[in-house]
Amino acid sequence: MTARLLIVGPQGSGKGTQGVRVADSFGVPAISTGDMFRAAVAGGSELGTQVREIIQAGNLVPDQLTSKVVQERLSQDDAAQGFLLDGYPRNLGQVEDLDAFLASRDEQLDAVLELVVPRDESISRLTRRAQEQGRTDDTEEVIANRLAIYERETAPILEVYSARGVVDTIDGVGTLDEITDRIVAALQARGLTRPAAV
Ligand code: AMP
Repeated sequence: MTARLLIVGPQGSGKGTQGVRVADSFGVPAISTGDMFRAAVAGGSELGTQVREIIQAGNLVPDQLTSKVVQERLSQDDAAQGFLLDGYPRNLGQVEDLDAFLASRDEQLDAVLELVVPRDESISRLTRRAQEQGRTDDTEEVIANRLAIYERETAPILEVYSARGVVDTIDGVGTLDEITDRIVAALQARGLTRPAAV
């Protein structure tokens, strides 16, 4: 069974953590553009040099570059039977790019998981992560910028996917296990089941 999934939520919604948990249980790779960009910056590659300042300011990396990175990643063998995208697409232009790429492979997204967390809760989670992990884009000013970009550019993609009937809205408040269980239940209701444990 293939599962082609996308998880969407504002910064601090826990989408990264839940994305990995859900991807693991479905046996598909979790593909996070934020993680790929941070790894490129840490590794000092040409891509890293191109995106470093953009990420530090909490702005969006240009669509053309982001879509190219994602398409290369989705073309690897381990994504042939499914994947979970985290953080891409992040605006309407990227939705178009992804649509065209998936259509060229005769594929489409099976489900879009919208993780909903009240603003106060996501800000307090981000502030805590800043203290624990020291991410340079977790300062108060940059967090505000990232949340504003989410509202303005990313939230509208959910309307497009809702019109296609693929969005599941998930309450993102609770324990990690509770939230994962909600996601798995929503996917099961769509007929997407996890491979049997071996
Ligand atoms: P994230 O870990 O998803 O919060 O991403 C961290 C940062 O990477 C973002 O604030 C952007 O600067 C950049 N980024 C991640 N995904 C994208 C994307 N799909 N389009 C543009 N920039 C992105």
